[in-house]
Amino acid sequence: MGYAATDMRKPIIAANWKLNKGPSDTEDFIKSFENKLADLPKGVDIVLAPPFVSLPKATELLAHSKVRVSAQNMSEKDNGAYTGEVSAFMLKEIFVNYVILGHSERRAIYGESDEMINAKILKAHEVELKPIFCIGETLQEREDGKLEDVLRTQITGGLKNVTEKQALDTVVAYEPVWAIGTGVTASPKQAQDAHEFVRSVLTDLYGVSVSEKIRIQYGGSVKADNAAELLGQKDIDGALVGGASLEASSFAELIKNGVVE
Ligand code: PEP
Repeated sequence: MGYAATDMRKPIIAANWKLNKGPSDTEDFIKSFENKLADLPKGVDIVLAPPFVSLPKATELLAHSKVRVSAQNMSEKDNGAYTGEVSAFMLKEIFVNYVILGHSERRAIYGESDEMINAKILKAHEVELKPIFCIGETLQEREDGKLEDVLRTQITGGLKNVTEKQALDTVVAYEPVWAIGTGVTASPKQAQDAHEFVRSVLTDLYGVSVSEKIRIQYGGSVKADNAAELLGQKDIDGALVGGASLEASSFAELIKNGVVE
């Protein structure tokens, strides 16, 4: 199994390092990972998302690489009295390509609402940063039969006023909250069913020819040994990876197993 690349959607595998790896650990990782790139499948977009302070080091070291760089968050504001924030323009200035928005940790711990996430997504597109837009239900919501309602609300809220063209430059990451950092993975069928539903909501918003081109990553305890089965599902177009992306060798193995060429 594994993701067999189609013309329609190029798979995308992103490493979310969360609050790990300052500039020197980032440099160590990138040097080791770059040595493994030649052995990795070519038809896959690979993205690293270090913490803010490590972004300049990452973009400098990867300036001539196929590996792209993502921030893990950003402000929807351009400048002003917003202590501790980082703007989209600042990320562009240091050559960042993507930005993770709406991660469940930002929603749950920092109280980010669909409205805030929507404002950030619109701002990211304004400066041509590609959002990796995270959605996903809690265990309670799934057990209460609210999976589809939750996903629909998050998608329509997050993508409000996002144009068709911008939607095509948005990566959606379906991450069931109960599978993030827990070692529990959604079964390939649970993940595929949710992805199919996400795509159907995207079809309602943008029509089938657009929704078929939007990449939907799965996230939640993806590892080298389950990547092939998950990425082999029809509507799963890549992975957003936390824990298993912290070591260059295990992240490289995950990519190798997940994408078949
Ligand atoms: C994540 O935080 O986006 C994630 C998927 O983490 P993990 O792979 O550790 O579950």
